[in-house]
Amino acid sequence: LREDALKKADEDAFTADGRRIQVFANIGSLNDLEAAVHNGAEGVGLFRTEFLYLENDQWPTEEEQYGAYRKVLEAFGDKPVVIRTLDIGGDKDLPYAELPKEENPFLGHRAIRFCLANPDIFKVQLKALLRAGVHGDLWVMFPMVENLSEVREAKALLDECRQELQQNGVETASSLKVGIMVEIPAAAVNADLLAKEVDFMSIGTNDLTQYTLAADRGNELVAPLYDAAHPAVLRLVKKTCDAAHEAGIIAGMCGELAGDPKMTEVLVGLGLHELSMSAGTIPEVKEEVRNVQTDNARTLAERTLVQESPEAVRQLATKEPLKS
Ligand code: PEP
Ligand code: MG
Repeated sequence: LREDALKKADEDAFTADGRRIQVFANIGSLNDLEAAVHNGAEGVGLFRTEFLYLENDQWPTEEEQYGAYRKVLEAFGDKPVVIRTLDIGGDKDLPYAELPKEENPFLGHRAIRFCLANPDIFKVQLKALLRAGVHGDLWVMFPMVENLSEVREAKALLDECRQELQQNGVETASSLKVGIMVEIPAAAVNADLLAKEVDFMSIGTNDLTQYTLAADRGNELVAPLYDAAHPAVLRLVKKTCDAAHEAGIIAGMCGELAGDPKMTEVLVGLGLHELSMSAGTIPEVKEEVRNVQTDNARTLAERTLVQESPEAVRQLATKEPLKS
C-alpha cells in the first residue's frame, strides 16, 4: 500500500464516487515545507505561527513575519495556505510576553483572547498577513474561538489593518478567506451561528478532545481517557460539518485525528471537505480517500455516533468498508 500511495501522492484525492477531498499539510516552521511539498500536500491546512514568537527574544517584527508567511505562500503557488494567528498561552509560554501565572492555563488567557486584549501585538501579525497574502491564496484562521464577538472583533481589526496599510500605499491581499478553528465545545455547539461569519471552519481535535472529555492532552494519567474517536467528540464534529454545509462554507479538520488513515472513511462520512495532517501521512490518507464510497461512509459515520466508547468506534472503523 505504501508504495502505491507514494506513487500517487502528487495526485489530488477523489473518493471512488468522485468527490474531491482536499488533503493538506500541517506545518510548524519553514523547515516543514519541503516534506509537505514532497508528500503531495494540496495546500497547507494549518501553519502554526508560534515558532516565530518562540524562537525570538522579543516580539517578531512585521517584516520578519511577512518574510516567513510569503515564503510559505510562494512555495504553494495558487494552492490554499491556512495561516493560524498566534496561539500563545496554555502550555506555550513566551518569556518576553510577561504572561501572568494562571491556575488553569488551558482555560485561561490564551490565543485569540490574548490577541484581542493586546491589539498592538495582534495588528503586527495581521498586517504581515495582509501583505503576504498578495503572494498566494491566503486563508487566515483564528484559534480558540469561543463566541461570535471574538470573530467580529478579530475581523474588524483585520479591516482596520487593511485600511491603515492602504492609507500608506502598501499593497494588501485583494482576496483572502477568514476562518476559525473549532476546538472549544461551545464553538462546535454554536457552529451554525459562527458559520455565518466566516469562510471556513477547521476542527482542532487536539483541543476539542481535551475540552470535551475534560482530559488534559499532555497528562499521561488521563491518556487512556483522551481519544478523539470518542462518540461525544465525533458528534461535535458532525454538528460542525452540518453547520458548515448549511452555510455553504468549507469544513476542515487539522487536529491529529485528520491524519489517522483508519478514520478517513468515518471523517469523509461525517462531512469533512478538507483534512490537514503531518506531511508523512498524506499519501496514505489520500489512498484511503480513493477507496471511500460516500454513501457507505455516511452510513458508517452515523453508526459511530451511537457507539458506547472510542474503542467501539475504532473497531467499527477498521472493519471492511460496508458493502451497499
Ligand atoms: C488542535 O487543537 O487540534 C490543533 C490543531 O491545534 P494545536 O494542536 O496547535 O493546539
Ligand atoms: Mg489547538
